[in-house]
Amino acid sequence: MGHVAGEGARMRDLPAAAALFDQMADAVYLLDPQSSHVVWANRAAWEVLGLTAEQVLDHSVLSLQMDVIGMPQWTEIAEVIRRQPPYVFIGRHRHREGHEVPVEVVTTCFMLDGREYFLSVARDVTLRLSLEREVRERQHQLSFALNEAIDGLWDWDMASGELYFSPQLKRMLGYGPDEMAPVLSTWSGNVHPDDAAQVMRVLTDHLEGRRSRYEAEYRLRNRNGHYLWVSDRGRVCERDVSGAPTRVVGMVQDITDQKMLQFKLEELAANDTLTGLSNRRHGEAFLDSQLALCARVGMPLGLCLVDIDHFKVVNDLHGHLLGDRVLRAVAQAMAGELRRSDLAYRWGGDEFVVVCPDTGLPELRQVAEKVRAALLAIDGAALGLSTISASIGVAVYPDHGEDVPTLMASADAALYLAKAAGRDRIEVARPMDSA
Ligand code: GH3
Ligand code: MG
Repeated sequence: MGHVAGEGARMRDLPAAAALFDQMADAVYLLDPQSSHVVWANRAAWEVLGLTAEQVLDHSVLSLQMDVIGMPQWTEIAEVIRRQPPYVFIGRHRHREGHEVPVEVVTTCFMLDGREYFLSVARDVTLRLSLEREVRERQHQLSFALNEAIDGLWDWDMASGELYFSPQLKRMLGYGPDEMAPVLSTWSGNVHPDDAAQVMRVLTDHLEGRRSRYEAEYRLRNRNGHYLWVSDRGRVCERDVSGAPTRVVGMVQDITDQKMLQFKLEELAANDTLTGLSNRRHGEAFLDSQLALCARVGMPLGLCLVDIDHFKVVNDLHGHLLGDRVLRAVAQAMAGELRRSDLAYRWGGDEFVVVCPDTGLPELRQVAEKVRAALLAIDGAALGLSTISASIGVAVYPDHGEDVPTLMASADAALYLAKAAGRDRIEVARPMDSA
């Protein structure tokens, strides 16, 4: 028993109170302020230290608390406890087996029968500290992620007009941490002029609630004046009481490499993505090689240049989507009329080229007639349109040109004549000497 067992005995005279204290999860110590000795302790107190109810009474704050060293320090602490209770102390209790138990101790001071006592309630904060540590680590990871992420971040406070650019966003664009004034114009002024209108429309649509998020791919100028392709995504994250957006945050990703690859693939691809016909690059390569072949073996080669009549009207009256459907229907109808050795390709817009190796003028006329008839046979009503017609200019190697550019120019001139003569017709190129 401790040397102030007499006072401790008083507590034992109150078995009901002691029993209540024993139910507490926190450790409770009654201390002698002079010596710092434990006068009494509840069950949680001696259990958490690995001691028995008797053993704990052999201890004092000095022997239990690893962060109070020596009597002078205790005397100072005791003074503070007397001056301004409750006194909160974060320290470590020494377990009987040597390890430490982190505790938060709240101490009050009171008088009983003319004697002064300290009542300390010690809470084991092992769990709390480990949670705090976890939170700190997470915060650290988060700020690390925010700063080191591949993606740049921005945070636009609409009320103050400040637009925060993350260090990574600045790095992405080749700027130092102290460059890029945090205002909207720093960003908007560097969006590629050809992309700006589209980007601003998407942003406004989002701010005004017509789109659930802001999402755009565009070119953004870097510090050297070069343009990067970026994917930019953001969202309103705060609104005022009236629901108007006040803060928008977003993420910018450098997709230049991806875009370059995409362009390269598109270039390498043989097909026109809209119609599925050969694209111009592939078609022109075919034309080059077939013309060379026909020239070598002394065969003719026929060329049809097909241009849909009044196609702009379809777009203007019915929209581009229907225009696209018409282009697909035309491509399909045209492809259905060709021999295996022929090739149709989309030259651009509503213009198509049909290449017919080993085909002289009489046969070429027939091909052109079949194409013209196939387009007229498209069920325009199914598309909500009247008939679809095209004008066709035809030219034949070697009569209308001995190389690709001349042959094309001849077919184009014939097409012009067909248009001028009222459309929906076939015109044959003029012989070379009259052209
Ligand atoms: P014309 O009889 O003189 O040929 O008149 P047109 O209205 O057909 O005029 P033109 O051939 O000069 O115009 C072609 C139009 O095709 C212009 C453009 O808006 C449209 N266009 C070009 N490419 C596409 C596309 O991929 N999709 C859609 N829907 N329209 C396109
Ligand atoms: Mg046209």
